Amino acid sequence: MSYARELIDRAVAMNPAEGEFHQAVEEVMLSLHPLFQREPKYQKYRIGERVIEPERQIIFAVPWIDDKGGMRINRGFRIQFNSALGPYKGGFRFHPSVTLGTLKFLGFEQTFKNSLTGLSLGGAKGGSNFDPKGKSESEIMRFCQSFMTELFRHLGPTTDVPAGDIGVGGREIGYMFGQYKRLTAHFEGVLTGKNVKWGGSLARTEATGYGAVYMAENMLKVNKKKLGGMVCAVSGSGNVAIYTVEKLYQYGAKPVTLSDSQGMIHHPAGINLEVLKQVKEVERARLTRYAELCKDAVYTPVKSYPKGRNAVWSVPCQAAFPCATQNELNEKDAKQLLANGCILVCEGANMPSTAKAVDIFLSAGIAYAPGKAANAGGVATSQLEMAQNASMQQWSFEMVDKKIKEIMTQIFTAMHDTAKEFGQPGNYVLGANIAGFRKVADAMIEQGI
Ligand code: NDP
Repeated sequence: MSYARELIDRAVAMNPAEGEFHQAVEEVMLSLHPLFQREPKYQKYRIGERVIEPERQIIFAVPWIDDKGGMRINRGFRIQFNSALGPYKGGFRFHPSVTLGTLKFLGFEQTFKNSLTGLSLGGAKGGSNFDPKGKSESEIMRFCQSFMTELFRHLGPTTDVPAGDIGVGGREIGYMFGQYKRLTAHFEGVLTGKNVKWGGSLARTEATGYGAVYMAENMLKVNKKKLGGMVCAVSGSGNVAIYTVEKLYQYGAKPVTLSDSQGMIHHPAGINLEVLKQVKEVERARLTRYAELCKDAVYTPVKSYPKGRNAVWSVPCQAAFPCATQNELNEKDAKQLLANGCILVCEGANMPSTAKAVDIFLSAGIAYAPGKAANAGGVATSQLEMAQNASMQQWSFEMVDKKIKEIMTQIFTAMHDTAKEFGQPGNYVLGANIAGFRKVADAMIEQGI
């Protein structure tokens, strides 16, 4: 049995009922197979076994009081996955679907993503099954304060520096930062995604979406193509989707779709960015509100999607940007995208394509960038925020944006060259996984067991 297969079996046996974690380990390990064959040292030093085991898993109760005085309990997590390359870094997700397995898959992916940025960052992820939807401002504040009351002792600017993810934006980061400061009496860069008025970085809000579009442009450039003039399908309607749409317009492309967990929008004239920001960032409303404001947009609820499919991927497009959540694009969706002439898939979300969908993209030879490379602009900018906090400076929007663009090009070059080195040019899954893993693995060997 190959070392890669042994590791997959071990991950399944040791982490029962954590399907998303198994999926992520399998995807990474299968593409590392050629590296393991070439470099026996990784097996000798048991790097595979060590890299699939989080260094520390913190699980805790988060009690809070709702507006009626009732007691509520949620479960909080922080998975400090790997610190070979730097302090733990990775966002918090607040969503009812969050489980230990979800956060382990995200922390595992984050380790290699952070390595790909070329910056000094370890990998982590955290969050809670708390659902911020329908909660008042004060309920969200009390929840965030309770969450941080347990977690603060495990964090620090050179220990573990969390950020946002699904359900955690500037407002939640603010409440958690406030509580950390109260508990420690330290005003320090312990969270990223902070408001720019008190330590945040300009362009952090835009970074993940912008970065995904920079990655797409890099992939097209090698084939002498560009985004300008392309019709694009974007899923999601949160932070990543909004700034993917914004940057696509800046490149002359036309994004025509959006989605959330209840339905999707098709707006053939092109997504109205101003309305999108108003609905999602100001009103915090659903996409049905977007359809109310843009009469020529068509709203389709999830219950009317074709069976077993995500309707976003049925809309004809040349480029697809999945920016909502994991496993939102399956094999049927992948086939439909190809049948409609799609030539590029660039993942703003983490693991949005199922393993079978990824195989279809790779076999078809289209430009496909996995999330760990395509959405790394967010964490890279978080590191830029840490650098600004440590030096007590604030850089201009243009300077940060320029650095994001350079980092995305560097990541593209790393995955492109590594795929070529291993005889599979254009296989960016293999390229990103090997390039990301190699650095972490070598650091682990050098630092000893
Ligand atoms: P937001 O919370 O801002 O937005 C998430 C979007 O995805 C919303 O439109 C949400 O709809 C939708 N969504 C969430 N769960 C589901 C679901 N089960 N089915 C369908 N739609 C769903 O999160 P972000 O934009 O920050 O994150 C989106 C993705 O990007 C995630 O995979 C995240 O891990 C990844 N990412 C984010 C980074 C960042 O900097 N923010 C960095 C790197 C990756 P609804 O409102 O209905 O729930």
